[in-house]
Amino acid sequence: MKELHIYNSLSSKKEKFKPLEKGHVGMYVCGPTVYSNVHVGNVRTFMSFDMIFRYLLHLGYKVRYVRNITDAGHLENDADEGEDRIAKKAHLEKIEPMEVVQKYTVDFHNTLNKFNFLPPSIEPTATGHIIEQIEIIKKIIDKGFAYEIKGSVYFDVIKYNKENHYGKLSGRKIEDLIHNTRSLEGQSDKKNPQDFALWKKADTQHIMRWPSPWGSGFPGWHLECTAMSTKYLGESFDIHGGGMDLKFPHHECEIAQAETCNGKSPVQTWMHANMLTLNGQKMAKSTGNYILPEDFFTGESEHLSKSFSASCVRFFILQAHYRSVLDFSNEALLASEKGYNKLMESVNTLENIIFSNKTSGFNIESWKKNCYQAMNDDFNSPILIAELFSAVKFINQIKENKASISEKDLLTLNSCFNAFIFEILGLHTLNETENNHKEKLENSIKLLIKIREEARENKDFKLSDKIRNELEQIGIQLKDSKEGTNFIIDSK
Ligand code: AMP
Ligand code: ZN
Repeated sequence: MKELHIYNSLSSKKEKFKPLEKGHVGMYVCGPTVYSNVHVGNVRTFMSFDMIFRYLLHLGYKVRYVRNITDAGHLENDADEGEDRIAKKAHLEKIEPMEVVQKYTVDFHNTLNKFNFLPPSIEPTATGHIIEQIEIIKKIIDKGFAYEIKGSVYFDVIKYNKENHYGKLSGRKIEDLIHNTRSLEGQSDKKNPQDFALWKKADTQHIMRWPSPWGSGFPGWHLECTAMSTKYLGESFDIHGGGMDLKFPHHECEIAQAETCNGKSPVQTWMHANMLTLNGQKMAKSTGNYILPEDFFTGESEHLSKSFSASCVRFFILQAHYRSVLDFSNEALLASEKGYNKLMESVNTLENIIFSNKTSGFNIESWKKNCYQAMNDDFNSPILIAELFSAVKFINQIKENKASISEKDLLTLNSCFNAFIFEILGLHTLNETENNHKEKLENSIKLLIKIREEARENKDFKLSDKIRNELEQIGIQLKDSKEGTNFIIDSK
């Protein structure tokens, strides 16, 4: 079977994946800037990497997955001007910046939990790594690639580009960048408009500030990811991911910083997830062109005709390859819901299927190989899902007595369904809430049985009879035997 191949944005090719340390994978993904609720576009990018994380784990790798929280340094525009996004929100809401951070970090976690994300191994924050960021700046200054002006420190892109290629990830040339960047004469202290901030002097109104060798200020946005990725994964690590829009300038700057600081390329495989669009335009908070995850659950949105479950939205997103643009529409989501329901019905049907002595009318081994082949080909979830549907067709044929399955094949089919649908795609079964409620009901009955036993030991027969009689009235019968008390819930 073909081994795992991943599309590397740096080489623009699919490459055979070979981790730096056998059996281990270090993966860093740029996390959210926690100044507002995440929209479903953000969720898509994080979901792509959740699926990738799940598949790497499934393959048996020990994965250290680091996804940061940006809680300082990300200015209003992606250049180095404007207010810090979090500080601006804090001003607006008249609360502390850290209250903004807490509020939207909690929202982020709640949202990802609803979509059944696995937590990353480490979730570091920018503000928790100011010392590390200052150390990196000192190193870059010592190496002669950064300069200080009036309390701010900038990375010298033009000097770096003399011996390196600034733009190698995003396919840009410095000449074009120079040509296309407007001169910031009088507006900025930078030597060249292409240079980027490593440290910014905080003006009197800037509330998020830290002491540094260059005075009171705050780190530039690109620096935190270099500090946190190399701290937890080493100077060179396997995978760095993020949304396509982070390629430039964010990831380009990360490469320049890390290469200057450590003298080596920081990342083996750069991965970029494509955008979720709405009406053909990128979903973005700034333009108002977005849907919030909560909108799906309530159905209260001009873009939706009804509510949808988190698992159905997850299925909709994973039906597209992570490197393709996905345009959201109510019709597309309705179609995905049908497909998702069909898949889940098939999961239920499979539970009740009985094997036969005849050979199967479907080559399960080659189907299983195709499923792995799809995921090994740059995590191609839409092809995997298409393969799952060829199994659905076969399962329906068995149900209608038009096909049969051997014991061995039934075992393989069951384990593959569990692995691909639940473990790797991270979907939930249809009756997830039912199951959850059933478990809670059973635990409550067990608790009442325990209280009844204690009452009997204390010769409080009034209480023990009351528990038994009243449970009986609501349709739950207690059965006493030598082994203890059991119960039957009336199905009527
Ligand atoms: P931010 O909080 O703005 O840094 O964004 C968090 C992540 O969401 C980044 O990886 C972005 O690239 C990604 N992202 C932003 N907008 C979209 C979108 N419309 N579709 C997919 N991913 C997005
Ligand atoms: Zn980042």
